[in-house]
Amino acid sequence: MKFKILLLVCILATGAAFAQLTHRNTGESLSLGDYNKGSLQNGYLLPRTGKNFQCYSWISYYLLGREYTNSRVYRTVLAAYQAMEERCPGRTFIYMESARRKGGRPFPHRTHQNGLSIDFMSPLVWHDRPKYYNGLGLFRYLLSFDATGKSTLNSAVKIDFEVLAAHLLLLEKHARKNGLMISKIILKIELKDELFATESGKKLKASGIYFAQNLTPVLNEAHDDHYHVDFKLLQ
Ligand SMILES: [Zn+2]
Repeated sequence: MKFKILLLVCILATGAAFAQLTHRNTGESLSLGDYNKGSLQNGYLLPRTGKNFQCYSWISYYLLGREYTNSRVYRTVLAAYQAMEERCPGRTFIYMESARRKGGRPFPHRTHQNGLSIDFMSPLVWHDRPKYYNGLGLFRYLLSFDATGKSTLNSAVKIDFEVLAAHLLLLEKHARKNGLMISKIILKIELKDELFATESGKKLKASGIYFAQNLTPVLNEAHDDHYHVDFKLLQ
């Protein structure tokens, strides 16, 4: 009986993962509609791992299929990671959810619908050494940080604001090379002064890239462990 249940689970999981396992990125994508009411045609699937990056959860990647983006966002994200290799050698970066293969709402996100949004895990340090919480998978979204960016689980773990700001600057730089720009970043309001106080944060502030100004308490609290980036197509 147990064997049959296990077999059934394996068959269902393989079925759910089939689209991701057989996907090929070709041509260009089309983002239709808006971030919160839209769809994606010919979405590109991000690599699950690369030289200095990885997806936060294999369940999200294979079973839920939430790591598709517009082809321009795909190129931007990978180029920024490549540039981060030089900026922070030896560091691994983790991306979280982007969009479903054909877009639409990936619950509980309201946005992430047209392939132009993506979440990145805030880079963390523990006593100045990189910290990843790799084992948390989907639960990574549940970590929480105080107004100065210290983990509520362990105050020695904190957000590396300098690296976070450097990543955003490189994302914007490579977005522009791919016919995009960052239209909005969502990060917990209370963390912005910590971010803008760093060297790269000062450049980020001067760049004028838009950060969400007013967030509901739920949205504000949700964006302490990760930062959400919306891209916009340049005409
Ligand atoms: Zn998001």
